[in-house]
Amino acid sequence: MGYIKKEIQNLIKSMDETFSIDSGVRNWLKQSIYPKHNLILKSKDGYYCTNCKKTFHSTARVGEYLVCPKCKESLLVRMNTLKYQVFKDDFRILDYINGYFVLRGFEVSSTYSNNKVTHRYQEYQRLVISKNKIYLLASNVFKNYMGYTMITYNEKHIRWRLLDGQYRWYMSRGSIYWGELERDLKGSPYYYCPVERGLSPYISSEDIEILLQRVLINPISFELLSKLGLTNLAIHCDRFVNKGSFENRFGVTKDYLPFMVKHNITYHELEVLKVIKHMNIRIIRRLSELHNFTELSKYLDMEKALANGLNKNNEHLYSDYLDFAERLHLNMKDKRILYPKDIVKSHDELMHQVETIENQEIIEKIKNRYEELKKNSYKDDKFVIFPVPTMSDLIKESEVQDICIRNYNKRYADAETDLYFMRKVKDITTPLVAIEVRNNEIIQSRGKKNNDPTKAQQAFITKWETKVLKGSVLYA
Ligand SMILES: [Zn+2]
Repeated sequence: MGYIKKEIQNLIKSMDETFSIDSGVRNWLKQSIYPKHNLILKSKDGYYCTNCKKTFHSTARVGEYLVCPKCKESLLVRMNTLKYQVFKDDFRILDYINGYFVLRGFEVSSTYSNNKVTHRYQEYQRLVISKNKIYLLASNVFKNYMGYTMITYNEKHIRWRLLDGQYRWYMSRGSIYWGELERDLKGSPYYYCPVERGLSPYISSEDIEILLQRVLINPISFELLSKLGLTNLAIHCDRFVNKGSFENRFGVTKDYLPFMVKHNITYHELEVLKVIKHMNIRIIRRLSELHNFTELSKYLDMEKALANGLNKNNEHLYSDYLDFAERLHLNMKDKRILYPKDIVKSHDELMHQVETIENQEIIEKIKNRYEELKKNSYKDDKFVIFPVPTMSDLIKESEVQDICIRNYNKRYADAETDLYFMRKVKDITTPLVAIEVRNNEIIQSRGKKNNDPTKAQQAFITKWETKVLKGSVLYA
């Protein structure tokens, strides 16, 4: 439940004064929803349709849906001894008030009992749609118990509250009655927008409230695109500008209009058309499936790439491949690079090259780290400690001592941690102990197979820590 700002409070008040259920709605319910709330009753005399009140013969079983041969309604088959059956459906009414579209959500409940069906409905939610926000209101008849929702029919007073966006999952998705819209829109900037004709085909595929919001944002484009027959573009009317030439608005010249209309192209398809400028719908549709179209088209002639095997399954690989090629400073105008014969093979080759180069960077950085840290080297007559000099020393230490220090190469190279070796003065090449240091503090010291250093080794390490590491902090 949320705080309702004054503007919405006033709107709720005027909605309650204005909104009603007129005869148009009732007639529409009778034609579109009530017929579905009927049964086919099976008895020894045959099958009786409670909708058209006719009897016929069938072999359908109880519990199945059967299309009544007389009224063509698809209805549930039950035994004629049935006493009681409830049907529930949602429906919505679209209204317009003071610059807002309002989608009113209803539940309609029909009860079959004593051989007759009675209907009732209850409004339980409203989606208030403005140019920049959609408010979800629910009334006190809408009950939600831990995700189980129900509508009650006996509240005396209706109160509205604002719900969080998460409740949008409970919103009515029922069919829409548009019949009040023309009356509501009279005198508004939306009067000439073919809202029902333009949006009703999208009820099941799109969130209709978002489409309504786009109409509020750009009614001029919505009207124009709808009238041109470009309904797939009209539902994205908010993305178009209203001024300027055709080319300015669509990114292609007016010569393309008949083609666009013929195929009622989508926004994605228009984006492809803008780039390839080729009126071939089959190619456009294939390219519009690519998620990386815009990115890829910066480098590639997309039709050529398509012919070369680019598709929605390898587009990520292709895009990675181009990224590698760029990182390797290859000639991004060279056709042999842009359209490789075998994308998988070329991708793997370049990936390997990039990895090698990145390894090369680490190798160089480790050499620099040695130079930077060698001031911390320390020795007495028995032991010596010095920073890890090279990548190959790290690898060797890992192999000989059976420890995982080689995995620290990048962190060491990037100065996220410091690595040192301790050796015997007399045998400076043989691995003995590896030490990790961060902020001049020893994090760990490991001998063979991750063993702790011996007592004598530890004494030397502690001396080094006190004299050199801590000392370097004091006297830096
Ligand atoms: Zn019938």
